[in-house]
Amino acid sequence: ENGAAADDRRVSLRLDGVTKEFTEDDGGTVVAVDDVSLDVYDGEFIVLVGPSGCGKTTTLRTVAGLEQPTRGRIVIDGEDVSGQEPRERDVAMVFQNYALYPHKTVRDNIAFPLQIRKFPKGEIAERVEDTATMLGIGELLDRRPSDLSGGQQQRVALGRAIVRDPGLFLFDEPLSNLDAKLRIQMRTELNRLHSRVGKTSLYVTHDQAEAMTLSDRVVVMNDGEIQQVAPPEEVYANPANRFVAGFIGEPPMNFFDVRVEARDGTLVAVGDGFELSLPEALAVPTDAGTDFELGVRPEDFEDAALVDDADPARSMAVHVGVVEPMGPHKDLAVRPVGREDDPDAEFTARVSNATGATEGERLTLVVDTTNAHLFDRATGDNLT
Ligand code: ATP
Repeated sequence: ENGAAADDRRVSLRLDGVTKEFTEDDGGTVVAVDDVSLDVYDGEFIVLVGPSGCGKTTTLRTVAGLEQPTRGRIVIDGEDVSGQEPRERDVAMVFQNYALYPHKTVRDNIAFPLQIRKFPKGEIAERVEDTATMLGIGELLDRRPSDLSGGQQQRVALGRAIVRDPGLFLFDEPLSNLDAKLRIQMRTELNRLHSRVGKTSLYVTHDQAEAMTLSDRVVVMNDGEIQQVAPPEEVYANPANRFVAGFIGEPPMNFFDVRVEARDGTLVAVGDGFELSLPEALAVPTDAGTDFELGVRPEDFEDAALVDDADPARSMAVHVGVVEPMGPHKDLAVRPVGREDDPDAEFTARVSNATGATEGERLTLVVDTTNAHLFDRATGDNLT
């Protein structure tokens, strides 16, 4: 599950059947993390991603020692640390709200983890300078957090984590309080920092752009359970199931209820208001009466008028709703012809900017089905 050919690498962090249950006020039980097992290799950047409440933060907190797992073990560098206090573990955590000391200067904020560990003064000064320079906040050392921008405060929080040179970094949505532009800038800086420092990192976010750009591997969670562990390109191109397919990708993948028929040696997906011939690679058993969902990403549609020799067997006649110009392309909200009045039939087609499609008109779309997926409607498994 965690990827092949990785066995020869050193495991830095192992989550072994970690379960965390909380008792609610009414006596009920919430299973926040449900039997999560994961090996993180030395130097890897792992991003935990999933919808709100899926258990990402709780998973991270069990690694930090801020929560005790109900069952299971946390192993860091081969040592079972499950019973250890947070400060006994060789980890540093960066939080969403920075958690800086408001009355201390930047210098003292960064120095603090070294001061409480009684590092010599000279070494503290040197390490603080080096860390601040690396993060581009060398000029700010005598300021207080309230005199810094959000991005600068986040750099100070990063500095405080890095300065101690811990074996493992834990990040809990560290960029979510920054505005969109700064978030992207800090994302790039985190990437650069990881290339330089190369420390094993576990990073929690609900922002899939962060997950895709920062990670060596993505862990997609839902309802406390791991849905898929794979490199970012892989979760995008080969989602394990309907949940991952719908969660990764923006705008999200479109799903169509279909049955699959074999006709003259070709598989055809028959939906409400359309028929699409499928590539051989999507060969699935057609006899079992399985109900399928066909998944097609918005970018796999094109305005047929812009395609030479558009294949009628891979075309769909639609009614165009809202047209959103996005610069290089346009996002069309469309419904199959015959289902114009059904809001549930609406899906998104991302077509070239050159399209003449306008709201209220009919349009023929061509569908590139080579990247399409078929999901078992009962189990959600990706069958392709
Ligand atoms: P978000 O992105 O919203 O922070 P998350 O994926 O990090 O969500 P968690 O914070 O790990 O999710 O929460 C997982 C589940 O556990 C949720 O249903 C949450 O309500 C519950 N939970 C978390 N902490 C506690 C607690 N201390 N007591 C009771 N329930 C909790």
